[in-house]
Amino acid sequence: MRDRLGRTIDYLRISVTDRCNLRCVYCMPAEGVPYKAHSEILSYEEIVRLVSVSAKLGIKHIRLTGGEPLVRTGIVQLIRELKKIPGIDDISLTTNGTLLAPMAKELQTAGLNRVNISLDTLQPECFATITRTGSLDAALEGIKAALAAGFDPVKINTVALAGVNDDEMADLAALTLKYPLHVRFIEVMPLGADVAWAKNHVLPLAEVKARAESVGRLAPATVTGAGPAQVFRYATGVGTVGFIGALSHGFCHRCNRLRLTADGRLKPCLASDKEIDVKQVLRQGADEKELKALFSRALALKPSHHKLQQHKEHERIMCQIGG
Ligand code: SAM
Ligand code: SF4
Repeated sequence: MRDRLGRTIDYLRISVTDRCNLRCVYCMPAEGVPYKAHSEILSYEEIVRLVSVSAKLGIKHIRLTGGEPLVRTGIVQLIRELKKIPGIDDISLTTNGTLLAPMAKELQTAGLNRVNISLDTLQPECFATITRTGSLDAALEGIKAALAAGFDPVKINTVALAGVNDDEMADLAALTLKYPLHVRFIEVMPLGADVAWAKNHVLPLAEVKARAESVGRLAPATVTGAGPAQVFRYATGVGTVGFIGALSHGFCHRCNRLRLTADGRLKPCLASDKEIDVKQVLRQGADEKELKALFSRALALKPSHHKLQQHKEHERIMCQIGG
C-alpha cells in the first residue's frame, strides 16, 4: 500500500487489549482507565481476518501491543494463527516484560520473531515511581528470558524523563556493552493521561545522547526494524543504542504504519484523533472488498506530519492506542 505522499505502508500495530497490570505515569492515570467490555474488544478471529485482508494489501510486519498484550489469555494461539497468514513475515510484540519470563519460550515457538521490552530504570524505587506498581525484578527476569529464548533482536524501550530517570541514561546505554540488547531512548510524548506532566518531563534526546557518550564514543550502526530510531554502537558494544525523538526529530516522512485499536478502530497516525470503525463493518458481515476499502480510507487520512509539539490533549491515551 502506498499513501498519497508515496509512503509505503507495510506495518500494522495491533493493540490486543486496553488492560494493563502497570500504571506508568506517562501513560495511565493512577486509578487506571475504565476498561471496555469484552464484547467491545476484537476477538482473535476478527483480528486474524483483518490481518489476512491487510496482508493482501501489502502489510508484512505485525506488532502486537496493548495495554499489556501478555495479560490477554490466548495470545500464544493468536501468534500461531497470524504466523500462518501468507505475506506476514515478521511478528513482534511490545511488552512491559513483567509477565514475559514464563511465556518467552512458548511465544518464540509459536512464531513470535522479536520483542521490545519497556524498561525505564534499573533502580527498584524509580521503577515503583514510574510504574506505580509492578516489580523491577520481574521485568529484568522477562528480559533475561527473552534473550535465553533466542529472540533477536531484543530491544529495550526507555522513555527518557527529566528529573525522574535522567541520571540513569548512561547506565541503561551501558547495558549494550555487556548484553546483546538494543536500548532505544524515547522522548516522552503528550499522549498519556497527564499531558502537562509529560510536557514538564521532556528530556531532549541530544541531552540523553551526551549522557550515553560519557560511557564511550557512539558510532552509527544498524539493527533489524530500526524504524524511526537513529542507531549507534559503542566500539566494544554487543548491542546498540538508539534514539527516537518524536518531538525533536521529524520522521513522519518515513512513516510506514497503520494502527488497529483493541476496540476495532483503524488509526492512520498515533498522534491523530481520526479513526475508522472497522469492527462495526466487520460485524455486519462485510466482505473482503469492503474491508479493503476501509484500509484505503485509513490510508487517505494519514497526515503528512504530527503536531505533538503543541502538547494538546487527545481523545485516546497511550494504553488505548498501543504506542
Ligand atoms: N504495555 C506495553 C509496554 O509498556 O511495553 C505495551 C504498550 S505501551 C503503550 C507501548 C510503548 O509506549 C512502551 O514502550 C511505553 O514505554 C511507551 N509509552 C507509553 N506512554 C508513552 C508516552 N507518553 N511517551 C512515550 N512513550 C510512551
Ligand atoms: Fe501499561 Fe505499557 Fe502503559 Fe505502562 S506503558 S501503563 S505497561 S500500557
